[in-house]
Amino acid sequence: MAQVTLNNVRKVYPNGFEAVKPASFAINDGEFVVLVGPSGCGKSTMLRMIAGLEDISSGELNIGDRVVNDVDPADRDIAMVFQNYALYPHMTVAKNIGYGLKNRKIPADQIAAKVQEAATMLNLTEYLDRKPSQLSGGQRQRVAMGRAIVRDPSLFLFDEPLSNLDAKLRNQMRIEIKALQRRLGVTSVYVTHDQVEAMTMADRIIVMNGGVIEQIGTPSEVYHSPASTFVASFMGAPPMNLLNGHAAGGRVRVGDHDLHHHDHDRPLTVGIRPEDIVPDTTGPLQINVSLIEELGAHRLLHGTLQDQAITIHVGKDHPVSTGPIYAAIKPNAVSLFDVESGMRL
Ligand code: ATP
Repeated sequence: MAQVTLNNVRKVYPNGFEAVKPASFAINDGEFVVLVGPSGCGKSTMLRMIAGLEDISSGELNIGDRVVNDVDPADRDIAMVFQNYALYPHMTVAKNIGYGLKNRKIPADQIAAKVQEAATMLNLTEYLDRKPSQLSGGQRQRVAMGRAIVRDPSLFLFDEPLSNLDAKLRNQMRIEIKALQRRLGVTSVYVTHDQVEAMTMADRIIVMNGGVIEQIGTPSEVYHSPASTFVASFMGAPPMNLLNGHAAGGRVRVGDHDLHHHDHDRPLTVGIRPEDIVPDTTGPLQINVSLIEELGAHRLLHGTLQDQAITIHVGKDHPVSTGPIYAAIKPNAVSLFDVESGMRL
């Protein structure tokens, strides 16, 4: 069992900077959890603490049924895959994949069998005698994966493993990694700043901002019910529309448009995903479209709802033109946030 549990785990660097504020969460056995957030939010620090590459300033970290705060990285039964692959340039692919096993004094025939098995899984069998410099970026990343797999760890840790690859290869590799993780069933923690990677790969996403966990949830929860305006605008491209609104008399209004129900009388921030606003000649919203962004399979219409910027996502078959259009909001598609704190209401 490789459940990972953090109990008020905190990181203060020697210069006094608190990179991770006390964080508590549990990762289930076999789960694929993605830590996502902007540069500097503390996600790598969190991963490095789990790996044992960084001390924990306070709190308790469990992997399986052990407290590992003071356990050496080598004794945590984990395997890490890094962005820069960390391959040995002078060794063949086979030697690179088997390196960790050789260190553990495992007999050569067993190593060869494990390397062969991993290479088959990763489509690397024809490259086993090559050096890393004779491989493409995607193949190198697979070698790094192979090295992690043969160790048969109870936990995989990934630190932005795809960020050196071009967009097309990144899409392909994220499917491969996800499929492999499913097949092996190894608990995995994956760090990225790419919200698409987070959405497509994760069983659950942990969104971080400024050393704080903003939300933990399934991709669907994080996307459709963001816990804060930060999550609403970080997850999704283009981001959720965030409009200044006001609730009064049981109605939420943006300008003179009625959008939603709410019982209290207060200013609030109204969040609506671009794809939840649909052009509709009988719809209640009048939007002035100023720019059409053509994206092949769909289009983005950028414009204003009275004086506030708004973006709508429409299918490629929908006729579009600049100027005023009418639109409706899909049912249950409105998120409301407190203006001051940004937290979901
Ligand atoms: P990125 O995506 O850019 O790698 P990140 O979210 O992974 O960012 P971390 O590397 O975890 O962020 O860093 C979190 C914060 O801690 C940053 O503000 C960083 O400057 C700071 N930090 C990292 N290492 C140290 C250190 N050794 N001493 C002091 N501050 C540090």
